Order: sequence, then C-alpha cells, then structure tokens
Amino acid sequence: MTKIDKTILIRDLKALGLSAGDWVAVHSSMKAIGWVEGGPVEVIESLIEAVAPGGVVMMPLFIIPDQEPIDLAVKPTYLGLLTETFRKFPGVVRSPHPTHSVGIYGPGAHEIAESHRNSTYIGREGPYHQLALNSGWVLHVGTDFNSSSIIHLADVLAEVPYLDISYPLFEKAFIARTTDGSIVKAQPREVPGDSKMFYLIQEEMDRRGLLRKGLIGQAPAILARASEILDVAVELMRGNPWQFLCDFPYCSACRKAEKLKNPTAGLAHG
Ligand SMILES: [Zn+2]
Repeated sequence: MTKIDKTILIRDLKALGLSAGDWVAVHSSMKAIGWVEGGPVEVIESLIEAVAPGGVVMMPLFIIPDQEPIDLAVKPTYLGLLTETFRKFPGVVRSPHPTHSVGIYGPGAHEIAESHRNSTYIGREGPYHQLALNSGWVLHVGTDFNSSSIIHLADVLAEVPYLDISYPLFEKAFIARTTDGSIVKAQPREVPGDSKMFYLIQEEMDRRGLLRKGLIGQAPAILARASEILDVAVELMRGNPWQFLCDFPYCSACRKAEKLKNPTAGLAHG
C-alpha cells in the first residue's frame, strides 16, 4: 500500500488549485485518502499548510441533538474521524450554533465563528456565507455534493417553499452553551432538509466546467468556488425547487415538503 504523507498531500492540494490565503471548507472522508502515516492530524496540518499564510480552513461540526443542554465545549460531531479531530485541533474555533456549528482555523477565525451567532442553521451572514463572500472554495475529498453544507444556504437564498421543513427531530428550539460559556438558541426555521438530490448541482457545474477535479492521496477530489456553487444552486432551485426532493418513501423531510406543492392533495372530498 502506498504511504501518503504531508508532502504528497500538500502537493495534491496545490495541484488541485489551493494556494496561500485561500479560504476552504472541507468535506473529506479519511478512509478514501488511503494510508496516511500521521493519521487525521497530518491531513489537517496539510490543509492548513496548503493555504498558509493567511488561509482559512473550515469543517462542519454538526451534532445529533440527543440531549440538552448541548455543551459545545465537549459535544463531539457525528461527521467522522477527520472532523472530530479538527474539532479538538489547537487553534480551531467552534462557531456558536447549537446543532450546526462549524470549526474554523486561521486569521479572523473568531469573527467568522461569531457570524453564526445571529444567523440560522446554515443561513445568511453565517460562516458559509462568509466563505462565499471571501472568494472561498469548497473541497470534497472522497465525498460529493450530497455532503456540501453550503447548498443548504442556497435553499435559504432561493427561498424554496419548503425552507422551514426538516426532520421531526428539528421541529423544536435548541439551546446550547457555547465554548465561551454564553448561551445560544436555534429556532425551528430555515432548518436544513434532505441533501440527497444536491448531486444535481454537481452535475450542472460539471457541465459548465466549474469543477476542478483531481486526487488527494488516493481519493477523488473536487474543488469548486463557494460563490459559484451558490449561484448555480440558487438558479436551479428558483427554476424548480421540487427537483431537490428525493423519491425515497421513508424520507420524512421530503415527504412532508412535497405536501406544500399541492396542499389539497390527499384531502377527502365530499
Ligand atoms: Zn428526501
């Protein structure tokens, strides 16, 4: 098995298009990269060095709200080994949102994190919006656009009709203690729904030549401008928001959302 180290990872990240000063939000599968001798810490250091000096690295640190109050100082993310290692990495700031916090490393990390305090889940003015406004990138390593958190911001910007509909777990307000000890609350509005159809945006961007593709270690990787993802997603969502609801019979979010399409459907007559 080929051994992958920091030199290889930084070379691959730069070959894909990252350079000094870039902002990048990362959605990565540790397993897909291959055997990295230094493990997730070495991958994180490589990401940081690929955009140094001046760059910003972000990863979602979403949690399952299974008990309250949520304590963001200790609550692990369910998104895998790399993100959980990033959460604990020295210098990473966790944004103050009860369930959809983002880990941020780099100059201005505290200010970027604070942008989440008065925003919604993945909402206007929040960290992913800051990423787009600062010409940032979204990097997928061994993952695809179905895990692209920023596309939930496109739901908000496009004002899709099912914007406030999500899974039953999210039909309430959440309270959390942030890493600085303050209390934050998330209301059940603009809650991210299903993302299984986000690959439609990936396909459209591919058709338009807006994706940079390559390998990071052994993983297929995609790099795209955050603002371009938002532009294409908002365009497709405004054109036909319903194409982003999946067909899976037991997807509660999509099945509930589609009832808005024809509110009288299913009502008994007479
Ligand atoms: Zn669905």
